[in-house]
Amino acid sequence: MNAKLLVISGSSGVGKGTVIKSLLERCPDLNLSISCTTRQPRPGEKDGVNYFFVTREDFNKSINNDEFVEWAEFSGNLYGTKKSYIEKCIANNKNVLLEIETQGALQVKEKMPNAVLIFIAPPSLEELEARLRGRHTETEEAIQKRLEFVKLEIENSKQYDYVVINDTVDNAVNQILKIIGV
Ligand code: 5GP
Repeated sequence: MNAKLLVISGSSGVGKGTVIKSLLERCPDLNLSISCTTRQPRPGEKDGVNYFFVTREDFNKSINNDEFVEWAEFSGNLYGTKKSYIEKCIANNKNVLLEIETQGALQVKEKMPNAVLIFIAPPSLEELEARLRGRHTETEEAIQKRLEFVKLEIENSKQYDYVVINDTVDNAVNQILKIIGV
């Protein structure tokens, strides 16, 4: 059996992190690729665990050396997936999971048509708006900006192989397991 390259995207507030955590617990032979980013670590995040935190200068060097399979700018920071890890997994017949936003996912699909793209969508935009407001952490302007971005991501998701509605985490994970044949 060939190694699978699974790409999961989903807008913020959609509960993507929880779905991926549960997916990795239930599917231990999925290897999560650790991305490079120029954003600052959040409290509790560790270099080499959550991300490889790099400077913009180093990131640009990696772009020039053609080290990324994909990269994109998101919210003022650069994010990218190194080719080396993915190639190593595939060569060793190991399944790889990328958790990236939609612009990068579409680059992966173009270069590696066998990649399976899954978009995790909120049950509805209204529901997502309610979830974002429920956090009480952001200004109205920030919420509106996020919602605009969500619409763009939903537009990009039309080119994905599957859209999984995150009504409950269990349902979403079960659907993903079915898609990847586990
Ligand atoms: P955060 O800063 O909240 O960890 O991530 C912001 C966004 O960047 C999320 O949508 C996440 O999926 C995406 N992301 C994380 N790593 C990568 C990557 O390597 N490439 C791309 N294109 N997006 C990424």
